[in-house]
Amino acid sequence: MLTAKQWVKLILGGLVYYLCARFGMLLFSLQPNNITLLWLSSGVGLVLVLRFGRLALPMIFLASLLANYPGMRHVGALEQSWHVLIAAAADTLNAFLAARFLTWILPAGLQRAKDLARFIFFVCLVPTAISDVMIVVNLVWGGYIASTGAMGLLRDLILSDCLGILLIYPLYQAWPTQRPHGREEWGWVLGTLLFCGVMLALDILNVSGWFYFILPGLLLLVFRVNTAGVYLALLLTVAAIVALSAKQLGPFGGFSAEEAHFRLLGFVFATTYVSLSLAMKYHDFLVADASGQRWHREALHDPLTGLLNRRGFTPLLTGEHQRVMRNRRPSVLALIDIDHFKKINDNYGHPEGDHVLRVLAEVLTAQLREIDCSARIGGEEFAILFPDTGAAQVMGTLERIRQHMAANPLQLGGDAVTVKFSAGVVEFAGGIESVEQLFGAADRSLYAAKAGGRNRSVTANWPAIHGRNAIG
Ligand code: GH3
Ligand code: MG
Ligand code: MG
Repeated sequence: MLTAKQWVKLILGGLVYYLCARFGMLLFSLQPNNITLLWLSSGVGLVLVLRFGRLALPMIFLASLLANYPGMRHVGALEQSWHVLIAAAADTLNAFLAARFLTWILPAGLQRAKDLARFIFFVCLVPTAISDVMIVVNLVWGGYIASTGAMGLLRDLILSDCLGILLIYPLYQAWPTQRPHGREEWGWVLGTLLFCGVMLALDILNVSGWFYFILPGLLLLVFRVNTAGVYLALLLTVAAIVALSAKQLGPFGGFSAEEAHFRLLGFVFATTYVSLSLAMKYHDFLVADASGQRWHREALHDPLTGLLNRRGFTPLLTGEHQRVMRNRRPSVLALIDIDHFKKINDNYGHPEGDHVLRVLAEVLTAQLREIDCSARIGGEEFAILFPDTGAAQVMGTLERIRQHMAANPLQLGGDAVTVKFSAGVVEFAGGIESVEQLFGAADRSLYAAKAGGRNRSVTANWPAIHGRNAIG
């Protein structure tokens, strides 16, 4: 059951349905004048059924009845009520079928560009064809139109009802998550509307042809704002085109009414389809690109500490190694291994061990320079690249970090624990052939630090010329 607030929203929805219907009818006074070339109500009806379920149906019926009544008045009172009731029933059926087909064909809604063609066929075309056949038969039967014009009218009705769904539903669906943000995006939306307005005005006042620049204008917007911004601009532009093309204005003047209507509908339908599919496809691309970037980031980083992992660190070290080989200015690789880390895990538990790893990562990041690059390359092993730096300077930096850890013991299970580590430091300035050799040299220094009693750093320079044999 609906809450009071939902009832209010449903009634407001019914009002929007009625106003959209009246808006379309005001623009076009076809015979009879309930026929319009822009029936946004079909989209509003679909949205109402999706939101409020079957309870929306009586509301749609009532709104359509009230909207259709004045236009169908000219036939005798009794007969007229029949035909108005049938028209309202057809509109209600349209909304019901469109919602049914949508939840059946695309349960998650219209999310991807590749779904657009299926959406148009099953959610727009089939339901509107069924209800529009009902409407046209009703109009011929009621003597509102001659049977000779029935097929042309049916074609226009189907196009205008499909347009209503295509202009309203994607906007409704995208609005909560993909609406334009900030001044810049809104500026683009307004700017595009202005541009389309000027093109329309030029076309009507000056030379037919300016009109065709409306589509490129809308497509430009696709790459600037979120999808809902494009859909909004599209809705307003199409409404303006249809409104200004009424009364035979604009590029569609000068033809017979039937031809003018079909040309107009063909143009706005094509414009709508192209803008929608491109906006959706570009959105698909942005989503895929963002997730690709996320995967890439995750593949190169350690989830526990947020530092680079070995896979992320190695290419940086390789690049630095190549640079050093060229310009011979030394850089330093340091490997850090926490002392007796197993005991921390054993005494305080694995989660506390994880906490220690995170804290050490934070301390490294805080204590190192922007250009230094730290990574977690193993369980409790870290690697740091110090570009353009000598080993002596790095020994000092590591000592500073050691002092920081001693001055800020961690509270683990009620104990104050000082995290200590050993480090192997290698200065390299050419002479080392590969990154593997560099890692090996740093590893040997680290081993020496462990063997020498832990909680210390051991360095081994790799001289540029005699390098290879300098470390045993
Ligand atoms: P040493 O001073 O010789 O380095 O002693 P150690 O205990 O630190 O050395 P060892 O390499 O044997 O132990 C490392 C331990 O780190 C073993 C493993 O259980 C633990 N470890 C590895 N990865 C993680 C992790 O992600 N979280 C936690 N909490 N522990 C980890
Ligand atoms: Mg270890
Ligand atoms: Mg260790």
